[in-house]
Amino acid sequence: RLWNFSAGPSALPESVLQQAAQEMLDWNGSGMSVMEMSHRGPEFTRICDEAEDDLRELLGIGDEFAVLFMQGGATAENAIVPMNLIGLRDGHKADFVLSGIWSRKSATEARKYGDVSVVASSESELNQDGRTWQPWAWFPAVDQWQVRPDASFLHICSNETIGGVEFMDWPDARRMRALGAGDVELVVDASSHFLSRSMPLDRVGMLYAGAQKNAGPAGVTIVVVRRDLLGHALPICPSAFDYANVAKERSRFNTPPAYSIYIAGLVFKWLLKQGGLDAIEKVNQEKSRRLYQFFDRSDFYQLPVHPQFRSRMNVPFFLPDTTLDGIFLDGARERGLAQLKGHKSVGGMRASIYNAMPLEGVMALIEYLESFERTHG
Ligand code: PLP
Repeated sequence: RLWNFSAGPSALPESVLQQAAQEMLDWNGSGMSVMEMSHRGPEFTRICDEAEDDLRELLGIGDEFAVLFMQGGATAENAIVPMNLIGLRDGHKADFVLSGIWSRKSATEARKYGDVSVVASSESELNQDGRTWQPWAWFPAVDQWQVRPDASFLHICSNETIGGVEFMDWPDARRMRALGAGDVELVVDASSHFLSRSMPLDRVGMLYAGAQKNAGPAGVTIVVVRRDLLGHALPICPSAFDYANVAKERSRFNTPPAYSIYIAGLVFKWLLKQGGLDAIEKVNQEKSRRLYQFFDRSDFYQLPVHPQFRSRMNVPFFLPDTTLDGIFLDGARERGLAQLKGHKSVGGMRASIYNAMPLEGVMALIEYLESFERTHG
């Protein structure tokens, strides 16, 4: 197999894929593939409930939150979130911090459902600390967010997959009060660093993530929402997307993406076996530390992101001259290093080093980066 640096769908742990292959025709003596099971039968009920329980254990999710396995990806959540939560308060207001392409898409979609305001943005080249940075190269400082105190929720994207900007200093209740936003619920799109580290869920009203980075295959979207926020969906919200309905039926209001939930469940068990999120976070810290350290020592490669906000998951970088891009990618492929091309809106390269990428794969990349620099620098 290749070292796969795709931003998603991305590499999955090999042992998970092997187990799924072994169980493909006959899950646990049931005589059926998981794909062939009734979603209301005892076998899938066990698979789905166990996946939820394991996810709760991993993230330390208390009973005050519902855990939902939904469909439509994070893009659908851009609509499903406002349909469920913008009606929490009169005025139907939602505030957005724009830190990259994904959060901008979220804000654009939400405009269909209510009064949307951008409360801070890093889209311009305004600098964060006296230097000029590229647009989307940093996360707007919390103290500068101009949150409306009567907004229903405040949305952030905590890891911008395309830009490679990660933000973990989510404001707690005290800081929200200081911003004049004491009753505003924090909503987080954590898609691309979900399960890569522990997360302060006590600060959020709701968090969502497409699975196809760290959590499993595409097809299932994970939603964690505080139960007291349920039951406020707009009348236009399709019943299958009303969190209250999905929570009541433990993700089986209608036929769920059963096979994707099953694989995600195997990934959760794999993570628990690794020692949980604290353990995987240490590995992710080490992987990203080695890669960034290499780049910082090089005069050849350029990193676009403000050091304070460098993502541990998605590492965009540029070669000094775009004519080298094709040569770099061909050489990488020959060495078994795949899917390093940057997002089309940014150009350059991007290495996504999710949970399933071992340190060995990162070291293979660093070795190639070094040799490419020696030849072309
Ligand atoms: N949000 C973030 C941070 C993402 O990285 C992505 C996809 O990569 C999305 C939203 C959209 O996800 P989907 O394609 O599952 O709708």
